[in-house]
Amino acid sequence: MLKTGIATVSISGDLIEKLDAIEAAGFDGVEIFEQDFIAFDGKPREVGQMVRDRGLEIMLFQPFRDFEGLPEPDRTRAFDRAERKFDVMEELGTDLVLICSSVHPKALGGVDRAADDLCELGDRAAKRNLRVGYEALAWGTHVDDHRDAWEIVRRADHQNIGLIVDSFHTLGRKLSPESIRAIPGDKIFFVQLADAPLIEMDLLYWSRHFRNMPGEGDLDVTAFMKAVVATGYDGPISLEIFNDQFRGGSPRKIAADGQRSLLALMDDVARDAPPFAITPTPMPSRASIEGVAFIEFAADEAEAERLCILLASMGFAHTRQHINKAVSVWEQGEIRIVINIEREGFAHSAYLSRGTGVCDVGLMVDDAHACAQRAGALNIAHFRQPIGQGELNLPAIQAVGGGVMHFLDRKSGLDRVWEVEFEQVSAVPNNQTVLTKVDHIAQSMDYEEMLSWSLFYTSLFDLAKRPIVDVIDPGGIVRSQVIEAPDRAMRFTLNGAETDRTIAGRFVAGRLGSAVQHIAFATDDIFEAATRLADLGFESLPIPTNYYDDAAARLGLSDAERASLEAHDILVDEEDGQRFYQLYSRPYGDGFFFEIVQRTKGYQGYGAANAAYRTAALRRLLN
Ligand code: MG
Ligand code: MG
Repeated sequence: MLKTGIATVSISGDLIEKLDAIEAAGFDGVEIFEQDFIAFDGKPREVGQMVRDRGLEIMLFQPFRDFEGLPEPDRTRAFDRAERKFDVMEELGTDLVLICSSVHPKALGGVDRAADDLCELGDRAAKRNLRVGYEALAWGTHVDDHRDAWEIVRRADHQNIGLIVDSFHTLGRKLSPESIRAIPGDKIFFVQLADAPLIEMDLLYWSRHFRNMPGEGDLDVTAFMKAVVATGYDGPISLEIFNDQFRGGSPRKIAADGQRSLLALMDDVARDAPPFAITPTPMPSRASIEGVAFIEFAADEAEAERLCILLASMGFAHTRQHINKAVSVWEQGEIRIVINIEREGFAHSAYLSRGTGVCDVGLMVDDAHACAQRAGALNIAHFRQPIGQGELNLPAIQAVGGGVMHFLDRKSGLDRVWEVEFEQVSAVPNNQTVLTKVDHIAQSMDYEEMLSWSLFYTSLFDLAKRPIVDVIDPGGIVRSQVIEAPDRAMRFTLNGAETDRTIAGRFVAGRLGSAVQHIAFATDDIFEAATRLADLGFESLPIPTNYYDDAAARLGLSDAERASLEAHDILVDEEDGQRFYQLYSRPYGDGFFFEIVQRTKGYQGYGAANAAYRTAALRRLLN
């Protein structure tokens, strides 16, 4: 069975808040980090009881530093310190302590010297039925590699001495985890996991501030864990995360993310590995997203009218009306916009708490029920509301940021919801279709929540992250993370705002939680679209002449090209000779807007180079 743990240092709060959050997230145990314990005003025995009262076990006490390789008299003192740690462990009620490789200035190297020290410590630990795990710190003075740590443990040859492996220390130093496979599983006493974004910086600083949950960073924690399970290791897997954001974040959210990351990781490990001792939580594979089935706005009647005028100016037609509810559908191409002005239910409460905006996104997936089942296995709550007469039961979940996500599929006929639950009121005039489908959905959130959002998307769906791009807003930096399907049938962009002086930050601050800030529709001919939409009364976001001077110089535009771009307020970007065109609506409400894009084949970006000009233009209208 999979047993999960987390070091108390990984989350914020005092010891009680931490333990409450760890319990609520469903972990089996904790690593008590000494500083958390020392800061707590209570006896070790009370701490042990607090942990057990929550149904958790203390899997490990850590860290014990600078033990091995010391000359006398420091060596004797190190053994005395170890005995005091053992006293605390007995009081706490845990049998395992972590010793990390020494960084003591007086520590002497030598595998045999360290092995002798550990062997003698093993004798002392054995008298108390305690165990000692030895971990190679990536910045240890003499031992900085799990292979050397293992050689020391092997030569110590003591039943009470084992190895602790930590994915950060191995992968962070770019060491291959493959050599772990040769270690006997019963000599690995504990496994600590952490991921991290790839940033070139001092190892110690990187480790203490930037670690994150498996799947949130760029390290191949899955490969590491595959090597670990190949040894026959059947103990707990535990998160040891040092991260500045997490230390300032909500303990419950961080702990829930941690448990989710471990559940998803072990599912990944099991997908294409021979059977191993740790049985992962069973779940269907990641859902593949085929496209956006609908985007639902919550509004009141007056707001809905304004929104409908905007939609009509973009060529949408009111095609369907719900059989039971005040819910209308506006369509064009493959795009469906749902407008919900019901006075009860989720959309209404979303409207009351956040105003007009996207409250629900419907995704077309390969298997809607399997997708909801995977969500459940990852501790993502299902969303339910009463089903009216003649309505389909579409699986739904509570998505990040307080929204709802519905799943439709062809497989179980859920894609028939439009015929089953709606009456057709008009057809989309064919000659009016200039927009074809949803290109991407952009959501804004506080920067602190970005990792949580990306974990939500990448653990549930078959979506991959692209590198984070910084977008310069006149009010500060916005970090933009693209998450997309392998065939790009689905693209999300997450915009993490560090301050509410940015457009994204202002949008986030204006509402509870976070939300869809813009929706981009694809067109096959942006100039045709711009002309058609102008006739329908669409008002584009005005782009200053300076932009076109710069674009003409940068991209070598002809006078005619430049003139037609400027005439329609169309922005342009280029990647390997492939063009990307963007046309923006004016902001609606507190900063929501629509975008229309045309990608020439091969362009896979999002016009990041233009984002600064777009935010500046929005700012002029919002101020
Ligand atoms: Mg560690
Ligand atoms: Mg966009």
